Amino acid sequence: MAEPAGSTDAREELMTLAATVRNHLQRKAAAGIRAIPKRRAAHGNSDQPAASGPLGGLDDNLFSDYGEARAADSLETLRAAIGDCRRCKLWPGRTHLVFGVGNPRAEIMFVGEGPGRDEDLQGEPFVGRAGQLLTDIITKGMKLRREDIYIANVIKCRPPENRNPEPDEVESCEPFLKKQIELIRPRIIVGLGKFAVQTLLQSKVPITRLRGIWHEYHGIKLMPTFHPAYLLRNPGDKKLVWEDIQKVLEELKTASA
Ligand code: SF4
Repeated sequence: MAEPAGSTDAREELMTLAATVRNHLQRKAAAGIRAIPKRRAAHGNSDQPAASGPLGGLDDNLFSDYGEARAADSLETLRAAIGDCRRCKLWPGRTHLVFGVGNPRAEIMFVGEGPGRDEDLQGEPFVGRAGQLLTDIITKGMKLRREDIYIANVIKCRPPENRNPEPDEVESCEPFLKKQIELIRPRIIVGLGKFAVQTLLQSKVPITRLRGIWHEYHGIKLMPTFHPAYLLRNPGDKKLVWEDIQKVLEELKTASA
């Protein structure tokens, strides 16, 4: 006897759903994720961001690989949730996943593009020649210690030959940066270079027109400036970066007054 059309449709729908769930779980396993986290209640302390903070960017549902990262309530738990990440095609080329470094309660956060060769080898952002220049800006220019601020990149794994990260890589990795910003809640973000600034501001405007002017990133003041690697090639523009950094220092003083 022929099966009613409705029951065939329902069975096909069920099989499609089962296949979708199976594929999703296989992707999670490949990304090193062994469990689907439960939603956590928002943090009770008003100083702390809720698990689902205003920056968003991490979709917490059965079909997401970001549930644990979204629920993280500290940089340590966020790093653990990222795990041995294979969420984009950059993972096979990395030596280290470069998460970020510095004070988890920093008032200033520097955000760059992604790890270069030295950073990939050492697992820390801004440690090569450009990193030394950034350290000089912080210590000699701002009279702060590197460990007073927080430094991270949009992308956590080194792109091959230091090419620009591609849109799908940014889409996969940027949620982690957003969560870092949400957890640290700095007063000021300094965006380093065209790529990081254009990504944060979702803008195609050239860095030469964006730098030196205050912008806002989800309620946090953002000052774009040139990347230290650019300054190594164009040392004449160091004075422009110094002007931008002085604006950051003035704003910090005003905010603390
Ligand atoms: S770049 Fe980001 S999303 Fe891609 S593998 Fe590394 S940590 Fe994961």
